[in-house]
Amino acid sequence: MLIDFFEKELMKAQKRFNQTFGVLNVCDLKTRQVAILKIIQMGRLRDAIMQSNNNDEVMEERSKFVKARNWLNNIFSQIEDELKERRRDANKRNQSKVIHLEQKLYNEEIEVCPNCGNIYKIYHLKEGDDWNDFGTRHCPYCGLIMDEYAHVGKK
Ligand SMILES: [Zn+2]
Repeated sequence: MLIDFFEKELMKAQKRFNQTFGVLNVCDLKTRQVAILKIIQMGRLRDAIMQSNNNDEVMEERSKFVKARNWLNNIFSQIEDELKERRRDANKRNQSKVIHLEQKLYNEEIEVCPNCGNIYKIYHLKEGDDWNDFGTRHCPYCGLIMDEYAHVGKK
């Protein structure tokens, strides 16, 4: 059961390392390096502890193992908190983008085709390089040519 503890803690540390440092685009390289060394150290200590038949003999190793684990857990928690905050910020940004887009769509003028009666909106997303706006639009349903400026449709 004791051996299980050291093995499990090491596995947990490796997993959390990947979930924290592994997903960071930018991170403190020194902290990352120390974290890797601590995991390696935990592996060595686990081996020493597992090879020993006498708990008293490996008291120091056990203490070092727990210290390394605690240090790592502290760092992992800090990164996890930061990641959570980043996700929250990203969600907020996306939400405001969607609201902005909805408002834009809602405020955009709608076209009613005098020929076929379809109601639609035309979205102009980006101007082409050689584009001159003469105000000519086609109804996407019946093809009627509309003059935006004169507000008339002609067949
Ligand atoms: Zn039409």
